[in-house]
Parts: sequence; C-alpha cells; structure tokens
Amino acid sequence: MQFARRTDELKSEGAYHVLAKAQQLEAQGHTIVHFEIGQPDIETYENVRQAGIRAIESGQTRYTAPAGMPALRAAIAEDAGTRRGISFLPQQVIVSPGAKPNLFFPTLALVEPGDEVLYPDPGFPTYRAMILVAGGKPVPYPLIEEDDFAPDLEYLRRAMSERSRLIILNSPSNPTGGVLSSTALEAIAELALAHNCWVMSDEIYSRLHYLEQAPASIVTLPGMAERTIVVDGFSKTYAMTGWRLGYGIMPVELAQKVDLLVTHSTGSTAQFTQYAGQEALRGPQEQIEEMLIQYRQRRDRMVAGLNSLRGVQCQMPQGAFYAFPNIKAAGISAERLTTMILEQAGVALLPGTAFGSQGEGFLRLSYAASMEQIEQGLERLTAFFSALNFE
Ligand code: PLP
Repeated sequence: MQFARRTDELKSEGAYHVLAKAQQLEAQGHTIVHFEIGQPDIETYENVRQAGIRAIESGQTRYTAPAGMPALRAAIAEDAGTRRGISFLPQQVIVSPGAKPNLFFPTLALVEPGDEVLYPDPGFPTYRAMILVAGGKPVPYPLIEEDDFAPDLEYLRRAMSERSRLIILNSPSNPTGGVLSSTALEAIAELALAHNCWVMSDEIYSRLHYLEQAPASIVTLPGMAERTIVVDGFSKTYAMTGWRLGYGIMPVELAQKVDLLVTHSTGSTAQFTQYAGQEALRGPQEQIEEMLIQYRQRRDRMVAGLNSLRGVQCQMPQGAFYAFPNIKAAGISAERLTTMILEQAGVALLPGTAFGSQGEGFLRLSYAASMEQIEQGLERLTAFFSALNFE
C-alpha cells in the first residue's frame, strides 16, 4: 500500500508501547509496578464529575462554537491571566479536546515547509511529530542535566537562523521535571525578539510545581504576548486526562486561524466536558493543593530511593510528576535497560530515548502512583541494580 510521506517519520509514544508490553506480562500472571504512565492516579474531583453528569443529564451533548463556549473561554482567560499576572481576552483562547490539538494547530498555522522549529531534547514526543507534519525542520536543543535540565542557551543561540520560525518551551518539563528560571526565559525572549520568532510555551504542568512561587511564563515578558502561544489544560491539574480538555492562548489573529483548523478537524470539544471544565475553574481549588502535598511526598521518596540505587543519580525535579535519573554508569542503553527492568524486576518505566536522542543514559519514572507502589517499585529496583554487572 502507498501512503503519503507525511506520516513516514512519526513514531508512537513510548509510554503506550511499554504499557502494552507490561499488560502482556500481567496477562501471563506477573505483577508489574507501573511508573510509565504520565497521568494522575486519582479520580477527577467529585464536584467536576458531578458537573459533567448534570450537563449530560440536562442535554448539554451538542456541538458548541469550535473555539469553545464563550463562558468557558472567559473563565479560562480570567484564570490563566490571573495566575500569570497578565490580562488575556476571551477571544485569544481556543478550547480543544486535550492540550495536544493546541500544540498541533498553531504549529500548522505558523510553520511553512522548510521553516525551522527549535524544541527541547529530551522533550514531549508530540513536538517533533507536529513539526514534521507541518513540513518544518525539527531542530532539537539539548538540556543540561547539571543545571536542573535548563536549555543549553549557547547551543540555542548558535542554532537560531533566519529560517527559525518557532521555539518550543516546556516548563515544568516532561520528562525532566525541570522548571525554566526567569533568567533563562529572559535570554530566550531576547533570542525570539532578535529573530522575529514565535514561542510556544507548553505550560500543562504549570500548577504542579514544588517551588515557593509559580513558575514564570515567557508570555509576561516585554514584547512576548504578541508572539507567544501559551498551551495549558485540565488533564494534569484536575486529573481529567480522559475528558479531553485543553486550551491555547495566543494573539487574536492567530486564534482566528487556529479556529478554522478546529472547525474543519475536531469540530468542537464535547459540550458536557466544557461544563465540567467551568466547574473545575470556578469551583474549589484546595484539592489541587492536597494533591500537590501527596506528589511532593512521593517525589521525595522516589528521588531518595533512586539516588540510593547502585550507579544511579537523580536530580530533584521542581515540577510535574516525573523523575529522570541518570543511569549512564550501568553502561547499557536506556532502551535495553528498560526492557531488562520490566522483564527481570517487573517495573514498567520509560527509556529517556523515548523523548529524543539526548535522553540516552536516562530513565523516566512517573511518581503519580501510590506510595505503596513506589515502595514496592523501589524495592524491586534495589534488587535489580545490586545484581547488575557494572563495567
Ligand atoms: N504537553 C505535555 C508536556 C504533556 O506531558 C502532555 C501529556 O502527557 C500534553 C502536552 C498533552 O496533554 P493532553 O492530554 O491534555 O492532550
């Protein structure tokens, strides 16, 4: 069969691949500890669930305006603006089924074939996929482990050219848990302005951080609101991955283009999901604080446990719910080590290379898992690494 070349270089997300393998082992009677999946292990909050149920029962099951219900766009503009200390208009907001379409569509609306798009490596795999589908040239920039996985600014500076069209940022980061400092954001904003370049700031983990102050957003820096797409959503903050609800906030002219792409593809986001989203934003927020207390305890336990493993070193992540330990001392590729750990220790996790070639020598573990699972997983990993032959 012949297919358009557009999908030739696309790969599946590593997490789905490992999950399938883990489930196969479970079907054979093995017990597996799951650290591979990037989603909260708690249920969607009760008030949000009930709002969704009420919406279905009262017949809110129809199409809405493609860019989203006006009341939800207004609630998002207010909430996202207040949290970042900036003012957004509802017309700047595009609602989508999950955050992913708001990564894809603005890229399609901005990138011409041959345009260069800079993105973090290791980074969320969708970035590379959407650049390729848009016909752009993917230009990965490395992150520096010793510097809390901050972008290598010198590398970024050298990688910029007159074809640079878009820089993608992700803070807090999947897979590293790193948070971009204000100094890094200022340097990147300077580069974007000097090269007349757009910035896509994926802030899906913006509420999940362990810092005194919320991570800063590049959109608040002088001259950046005109060239930044902020991507955020409900999946992680409100434990709503399966509801599919996310958004992008961008200059109105770009939002109008993205609106057209939504109109002719997803059509709109489920109406009852949008009602649930309004309740999430307008309802009590204390549940997020409670969830964060749990994540912080799990993070501390997971990172301490990983650092006690023979030959493993792990930075303390400042956001999201991932640990990204360095396993270079093992002298085995991340891919191979992932398979060995799954098959021999019964722990499912991801190789750093699922996030780009710079992820070689690292593993990614999600600690959005119960403390019991974390303890059990660490026990298994301790036995595995003690028995491993180091060169
Ligand atoms: N961006 C990052 C960095 C993510 O980790 C994820 C999900 O794992 C997404 C975007 C996609 O979020 P959604 O499920 O809302 O589409």
